[in-house]
Amino acid sequence: MTANTLSTPGDRTAGPATAVLPPVPAFPPPRRPDGAAGDGAAPGDGGLASVHARGVSAWFGKHKVLDRVSLEMPAGRVTALIGPSGCGKSTFLRILNRMHELVPTAALAGEVLLDGADIYDPAKRVTEARRHIGMVFQKPNPFPAMSIQDNVVAGLGLTGRKVDKGVREELVESSLTRAGLWNEVKDRLRAPGGGLSGGQQQRLCIARALAVTPRVLLMDEPCSALDPTSTRRIEETITDLSREVTIVIVTHNMQQAARVSDQCAFFLAEAGTPGRIVEHGDTDAMFSEPQDARTFDYVNGRFG
Ligand code: ADP
Ligand code: MG
Repeated sequence: MTANTLSTPGDRTAGPATAVLPPVPAFPPPRRPDGAAGDGAAPGDGGLASVHARGVSAWFGKHKVLDRVSLEMPAGRVTALIGPSGCGKSTFLRILNRMHELVPTAALAGEVLLDGADIYDPAKRVTEARRHIGMVFQKPNPFPAMSIQDNVVAGLGLTGRKVDKGVREELVESSLTRAGLWNEVKDRLRAPGGGLSGGQQQRLCIARALAVTPRVLLMDEPCSALDPTSTRRIEETITDLSREVTIVIVTHNMQQAARVSDQCAFFLAEAGTPGRIVEHGDTDAMFSEPQDARTFDYVNGRFG
């Protein structure tokens, strides 16, 4: 784990905090590396991995959008992030694979551990985090003119992995199978990805994410642009995948959270304050006997 620390007045993050993100924004103040090097240990390929966020705060410029969010996302489980719009769910998800830092004014404090190893360790490359922790977005985004098979392996170049033709074909088939799309496209692998239905395109994006063998798959409202049938198809895929990859999914659909997730975290940004986790725990318990009145109101559709 890295020993970098970030001193952030006004953000009394407990324990070591890790950051940040060029260009360093005016606020919070620049990080203060203490010089100690991390051990640089990379998580091994394959195998289930847990993700542990500790004391994560996030800013866009001076706007603090997350405040000391801590959450354990256990290996081989589906964790659902729920809560009203604007409470920082997407920001939190992007912090889990180092995409938050792509926003020029963005800053963060806290730690993200992949199987105990800090993904923000300065000794590690950002591509490493993104290879181990894949992402699927709200709107399916295949390369529309590229063939289905080329879409599946489109991420390999970024990971520096070279594969020969035979391995490539196997990878296309296995990734499409895992994404629940193989039977529908096996006879038209050279057809353009853009010709598929919305639900199929989303499963193609899942296949593309899986082809680089991530240990964690992040999904940001992956069904919100899809019809109910396609949604159910993706939910089945999520359930199948959860045995082999840790999944973190943002959803606005409470029924979906109840169907696919093992545990839930309820985010809330009250009255202009930064987003926090109000309550988290076993999904059944969160829905049947939430501890916090705000959770009860949210899961019962009283706001948001
Ligand atoms: P959610 O996914 O829960 O709807 P977001 O993480 O998208 O919430 O947003 C949290 C807060 O951060 C919101 O106030 C939003 O306006 C702000 N925000 C999100 N993305 C950006 C950005 N790129 N630049 C500035 N502010 C942003
Ligand atoms: Mg969002």
